[in-house]
Amino acid sequence: MTVSRMETTWITNVRLPVVLLENSTELDLETTDSDGLIAADLRIEGERIAEITSAAARPGCNVIDQRGGMVLPCFVDMHTHIDKGHIWPRKSNSDGTFDGALAAVIEDRSAHWGAEDVRRRMDFSLRCAYAHGTAALRTHLDSSDPQHKISWPLFAEIRREWAGRIDLQAVSILGIDRFLEGFGPELADQVAKSGGILGAVTFMMPELDEALDIIFQLAIERGLDLDFHSDETADPESRSLRQVAEAAIRNDFTGRIVCGHCCSIANQPADEAEACLDLLLEAGIAVVSLPMCNMYLQDRAGQQTPHWRGVTLLREMRDWGIPVAVASDNTRDPFYGYGDLDGLEVLREAVRILQLDCPVGEWVSAMTRWPADIIGRPDLGRLSVGGTADLVLFDGRNYSELLSRPESNRQVIRDGRIIDRSLPDYRELDDLMSAKSLKGAA
Ligand SMILES: [Zn+2]
Repeated sequence: MTVSRMETTWITNVRLPVVLLENSTELDLETTDSDGLIAADLRIEGERIAEITSAAARPGCNVIDQRGGMVLPCFVDMHTHIDKGHIWPRKSNSDGTFDGALAAVIEDRSAHWGAEDVRRRMDFSLRCAYAHGTAALRTHLDSSDPQHKISWPLFAEIRREWAGRIDLQAVSILGIDRFLEGFGPELADQVAKSGGILGAVTFMMPELDEALDIIFQLAIERGLDLDFHSDETADPESRSLRQVAEAAIRNDFTGRIVCGHCCSIANQPADEAEACLDLLLEAGIAVVSLPMCNMYLQDRAGQQTPHWRGVTLLREMRDWGIPVAVASDNTRDPFYGYGDLDGLEVLREAVRILQLDCPVGEWVSAMTRWPADIIGRPDLGRLSVGGTADLVLFDGRNYSELLSRPESNRQVIRDGRIIDRSLPDYRELDDLMSAKSLKGAA
């Protein structure tokens, strides 16, 4: 497939979500349709969006005619696990539960996660994300000793290699109890040295406040942001999200904080849940929901049919003024057996699982503009005159069409150029999926 260089190009007859437009004063917002979309033409000069203006005939110009198809900014996928991705063929989840996933990944990590194994799977994941139209991605990195010594230096290399294609951020992940054992400073130093974000899994334990104070102080001393996996369980007694918010307030934390999952709040009494939302707002905590992974793991019990979707109170959080987003989470590993880091799939499934419709309206922001803001990249995830032309062009002319098909024939434009969207072949990873360990091969 050829990669074409566009100098001045008009992308005409497009429909754009009004909520993703910035500084586009030339459009008549009165013409916005019931989906929150507006007809427009985009002028691309080199790698920038030079103009967003009313649809018109463009005789004599270099034109891509979208025939009414929607255009979105490239996706921002703010919660993934590309170090775990694609191990499913050699380490599946035998019963589909959270505990089954945890045990399987620990086994696989100790047997296989040398630098070469992790590098090849990470690179595979990033090529998928890039082909689907993702421009920025945050991954969690398993950081239990000694994996942190392998994965963090490797991540720094991969971030350099992918610069200009996918902007990468990384977060440490390990049980918060490990911070009580004195491992915290070494890990926090590694994270700081790598330009990362400090994170952990929070769950109920007697010393949770003590552990949270340790991690908050480690972050404050090093100027790090924080990103937690919190309450990934249906159990309403799991209230670690609330304790994270209280710790942020108690420690006067001024950095960014994200909490992912936050499932159990959906099963708490309304007054208790609302008190937690007040605390999240006061603490300035953003919440990312991982609807596909939640639907996969939550409420799984043997061969019974599940009764709930497993997702947090995302609509209520948005109403409360809490910054929210959705993201991929795991791909083809024991925590989620499917997935391909496709931002459109995440948006489509989020709309269905969380009922982010009637209308979709502003919720298109949950995979674009809002995560960009949350991860500190307000230049991404929007359609801005003067902004980089990082765009995804779809056939669908409205949300009904867009969210009904995979849109596998979408076009992705990066820095003003149409990219090659070929997906990597699973067969590339076949040699890693044999029982033989590659760990020593690094
Ligand atoms: Zn996760």
